Amino acid sequence: MEKTTKLYALVNGKCPHCRRGDIFTGSLYGFNIQRTNEFCSHCGQRYEIEPGYFYASMYVSYAMNVAEMIAIGIATYVFSGGNLEFDSLWLYVGVIFSGCFILAPFNYRYSRVILLHWLSPKISYNAYYDQP
Ligand SMILES: [Zn+2]
Repeated sequence: MEKTTKLYALVNGKCPHCRRGDIFTGSLYGFNIQRTNEFCSHCGQRYEIEPGYFYASMYVSYAMNVAEMIAIGIATYVFSGGNLEFDSLWLYVGVIFSGCFILAPFNYRYSRVILLHWLSPKISYNAYYDQP
């Protein structure tokens, strides 16, 4: 029987319990604002396992933001030919903030995916549910 790989489930925002149901509604960059489903449509796993559970994903999201800002800052430095004049401060601020703005839906989705897949001992993969 075909098993869903963890990587596939992570990338596609699938349920950590069965790796089949969608955690989110809508697509990553669609016209509809993505939301987190309450339950898995496939196995019935509740995603917000306790009230306010997703507040924890803010820490993950914060760490992702910091990493992205550093990466974008370094990229800006490289692509501007090592420009570190004070006048180019706004270039950095502009690029970093637009980068974070563009990445916001990505961070929203993957901070929750990381929380549910890696930081939630209460939810584990169960191959029994990983079938059509
Ligand atoms: Zn599920």
